[in-house]
Amino acid sequence: MLRAISRLHQKIARQRKDWHYNEAHRLVRNCDVLAIEDLKIRNMKRRNKPKKVDGVFVANGQASKSGINKSWSDNGVANFVQILSQVAQKYGTRIIKVNPRGTSQYCSSCLNRVSKTLSERWHYCDVCTLSCDRDYNSAVLIKKLAVGSSQDKKLPSKRKFALVEKNPSHERDGSVN
Ligand SMILES: [Zn+2]
Repeated sequence: MLRAISRLHQKIARQRKDWHYNEAHRLVRNCDVLAIEDLKIRNMKRRNKPKKVDGVFVANGQASKSGINKSWSDNGVANFVQILSQVAQKYGTRIIKVNPRGTSQYCSSCLNRVSKTLSERWHYCDVCTLSCDRDYNSAVLIKKLAVGSSQDKKLPSKRKFALVEKNPSHERDGSVN
């Protein structure tokens, strides 16, 4: 029984790896430049500190975070980014990593701040009426940040989130931070 479960886990891991390579090749084939968020996945997976009020332990948000941690681990985002970097390097496709700060909280069309909680999956901007999936909005914004088109007059400098990494680590040694 245990051996069967172990084999199943290996099979799933293999299939996931295959899928990662296929997707990485598809992206590299179709794009000259790839823009991704420079996510510190290890930080995202860190457990919340226990919270005490008047000597009594209270909810610290770990229960809801555990769900996120699990899906991050399951999706193997870190593995995918590493594979994508390898494939991109092999074919000379540039990867630009952008600071993820604020990428879900600003409108990709007009750069107005549109605050959302993690459970809010839809982006709607009061200013320019852009209405779309939040991930799509983030993706467009990440692309804009990567090509530097956000560095226009509409974005005050105090909103420090146009930080395109100048020397991505994968260009030096193939590793991903
Ligand atoms: Zn807008």
